[in-house]
Amino acid sequence: VKQEGRNGFNLYNPDMNKDAQRALALGTRLRSAINNDELELYYQPIVDLSTDKIVGAEALMRWRDEEFGAVSPEEFIPIAEKNGLIHRIGELAISKACMQAAEWQQISPIHLSVNISSVQFRYCEQLYAQIRHALLKSGLDPELLDIEVTESLLFNHNEEVLQLLSRLQSMGIKLTIDDFGTGYSALSYLQKFPFDRLKIDRSFLQQIENKSEDRELVNAILAMAKALKLEVVAEGIESQKHVDYLKGKRCEFGQGYFYSKPVPASEFEQLLHEVVAA
Ligand code: C2E
Ligand code: CA
Ligand code: CA
Ligand code: CA
Repeated sequence: VKQEGRNGFNLYNPDMNKDAQRALALGTRLRSAINNDELELYYQPIVDLSTDKIVGAEALMRWRDEEFGAVSPEEFIPIAEKNGLIHRIGELAISKACMQAAEWQQISPIHLSVNISSVQFRYCEQLYAQIRHALLKSGLDPELLDIEVTESLLFNHNEEVLQLLSRLQSMGIKLTIDDFGTGYSALSYLQKFPFDRLKIDRSFLQQIENKSEDRELVNAILAMAKALKLEVVAEGIESQKHVDYLKGKRCEFGQGYFYSKPVPASEFEQLLHEVVAA
């Protein structure tokens, strides 16, 4: 094995260098995309599995750059978390999504889910002010707002984070733990934090038909959620088989390409009208 010096990455790993260069360039483009209001939210339906009706929407950020084309949030969110732009992106997401959801209440009483990065919790006061402002400005009932956080928040938590979560919950906001099962979560965290819902990561559903271990994992998560009185949303539902399995296990909510991919606001509105008409 070749020993690399302190600058080994730069000297011997041209790929790493390219990745770093792309990240830097994307970071610069992202900043101007924010300034030019070029980020857009798409919405993916969340379905009540007992009625097959749309009861919610998850807001997901989309960015198309002139030079780089469509850049996935899987790529630009981590960049934004490193260069600090996540605070502005987060504010945009929450304010735009609340306005949109408030407007949709005239069609159907749906919930709105917004992703909040653990990095945004480094400035709890600022985050609280952003959420409060978005609710006041839009007039959206806080009970209809659902905040999704990942397990990394629990891992690096401090008292201030815990206090903010409790404060949000006492306003009526729902708290969801996202990507459940992929991170560092321990059962003690789940008890300590005031969550209302848990989202099973889509990786658990993918192999559900041919891997009994994955079925057992899903069953175990559902049983644990029930014991902790958490509602469950299954993510990544792609087939009728997935639906049937989850319905059989009394999973409350589902989301995935089987129902719809994330779509622009205007298309989501069409879906809502269809639900009401049905
Ligand atoms: P996430 O919060 O776990 O969001 C769910 C992701 O799964 C979305 O990817 C969605 O398009 C995808 N998905 C939904 N159903 C299916 C399915 O049936 N099959 C498959 N293969 N995929 C499905 P997306 O939109 O690319 O977002 C990726 C991640 O980027 C999100 O994962 C979230 O962590 C992050 N993200 C997106 N928008 C925001 C945002 O506004 N703020 C923050 N902090 N993170 C965001
Ligand atoms: Ca999410
Ligand atoms: Ca997720
Ligand atoms: Ca994810």
